[in-house]
Amino acid sequence: MSETLNIDLHTHSNCSDGALTPTELVARAAAAHIEVLALTDHDTVAGVAEADRCAKGSGMRLVAGVEISASWRSQAIHVLGLWIDPESSSLRRELESQAAHRALRMRKICVRLSESGLPGERLLAAVQANPGLPTRAHLAAAMVADGIVARSDEAFKRYLNRGRAAHIAADWPALEVVVGWIRSAGGAASLAHPARYTLSAGARRRLLTDFAAAGGAAVEVITGSNAAHHIEACAQLAMQFGLAGTIGSDFHNPEVPWNPLGRLAKLPAGVTPLWRSHGL
Ligand code: AMP
Ligand code: MN
Ligand code: MN
Ligand code: MN
Repeated sequence: MSETLNIDLHTHSNCSDGALTPTELVARAAAAHIEVLALTDHDTVAGVAEADRCAKGSGMRLVAGVEISASWRSQAIHVLGLWIDPESSSLRRELESQAAHRALRMRKICVRLSESGLPGERLLAAVQANPGLPTRAHLAAAMVADGIVARSDEAFKRYLNRGRAAHIAADWPALEVVVGWIRSAGGAASLAHPARYTLSAGARRRLLTDFAAAGGAAVEVITGSNAAHHIEACAQLAMQFGLAGTIGSDFHNPEVPWNPLGRLAKLPAGVTPLWRSHGL
């Protein structure tokens, strides 16, 4: 079945920084003929129950997921937790602490923006008006709406990225700790979009070594933003480190054309699909 399966294991709803409600996301995925969909919001499982209910109504399988922010050698790294138990009380407790961390970080970022002469309080209020967990994507959108920058990307480049005035080092929990949360909740950990981190080839291999040693299960080989050479490099990493592979669009918003739902490349031959060990 897996050869032809239309599967997307990385998407966002407005429970984090996606534009669609879980219901709208599932409807859109069904219309794109996706058969297996994971909802993987940043640091929250708040949308999973709604998405699961809607998926059942449309004949789609919903994989309970989350994209957890972690630290590795002072780099922010994203780890997908897939096939987790969304009711796990230990995972929910850890995600509550991630949410508190996000709220505090957002307040600090907005103080920095005020110190730079921008309307930090107003921007914070705009971020807090969103239904989802606060992310820098919400803040960038608020800065666009306020006319401070023309596009979200510019907000990151001028203010929010590392080395810029409003960058706050995130201090996320260590990679091994986050992989442990996922495993304790019955899930499998996949290292999200490995090509997107600013790391040398050697550092990327050390990251994979540590991830595999911590009990990581897979590498996200196909992501919406991956070019062909990234796919090849991530496939090599998966095979070299004895990890399975996952694919996911990282869909956030229908207005963003580069990661549409349901049009992902297939995993390269030689990479074991993670979903094989989950009955698909
Ligand atoms: P956070 O997890 O709060 O650090 O927010 C990061 C989120 O912002 C990512 O998940 C992306 O959705 C978004 N993002 C990161 N970099 C950019 C960028 N350069 N332009 C637009 N959105 C971005
Ligand atoms: Mn995001
Ligand atoms: Mn990510
Ligand atoms: Mn994502």
